[in-house]
Amino acid sequence: MPEFLPIPIKSSSLTYEPYQFSGESYFFWLWRVEIDGEVFSKTMSPIQASDARVERYGCTNCGVAGDGTGFYAVRRLGGRVVWIYEELLDFETVREFENLPEFFVFDRNDYGAMLGAGSDAELPELTMSEMRTLILRYLPPASLGLYINPECPYDPSGSALLKHVHLVLSGSGDITPVSEPPERPIEIRIGLDLPGAPECCWFVGKNDAGTCAMFAAFPKLPCWLGGQQIATAFDTPGIERLLPQGQN
Ligand SMILES: [Zn+2]
Repeated sequence: MPEFLPIPIKSSSLTYEPYQFSGESYFFWLWRVEIDGEVFSKTMSPIQASDARVERYGCTNCGVAGDGTGFYAVRRLGGRVVWIYEELLDFETVREFENLPEFFVFDRNDYGAMLGAGSDAELPELTMSEMRTLILRYLPPASLGLYINPECPYDPSGSALLKHVHLVLSGSGDITPVSEPPERPIEIRIGLDLPGAPECCWFVGKNDAGTCAMFAAFPKLPCWLGGQQIATAFDTPGIERLLPQGQN
């Protein structure tokens, strides 16, 4: 059996403490929620694993679900459950890259157990257009590229690759999750001119159907992707040179 690269995206943990909140005229329940040990909300509306939309800041006047702010869309993606800041799915909303709200990834097996009620099987699957939107939203602007590893003589800052991938994925075509991951993918890192010096971390390889890519960081999407647009984005001479020979 060939060895495949496990998807290197960590799932988050979620814990919550319900408490009774005294509103204008009656009491209602809110949750204090931590994700990976950090406070996510002190006034979250109670949620179930089957909820396709969650409300980060519940209304502290009436406690009625849907009356608060900070909505996240909840979607299934393979063995994971993802939370997407809802406004980001609307391309009309302008957001600076530096101030994007976080995208959360949970393990499907843990999600129902963490929340205790409802089934994640009822959640909608992440659609192709949502996938594309997420990738483009969290893809850093080319101006932030500092270096690329492995080194690329024609693109020492990685900016050209960032720009190319953005251009290709902004066009029309298909991006689809693939079930058969490539056998010997290469890892590409692009240093970013941001606080904490983060890096884009992408994997590119080939399976029998063609070129596949996984975005592990900047952007982050826990699945292998294929399709014509991924091929156009990554079948560049620079990447072709790095891929192990003897495939396809
Ligand atoms: Zn209200």
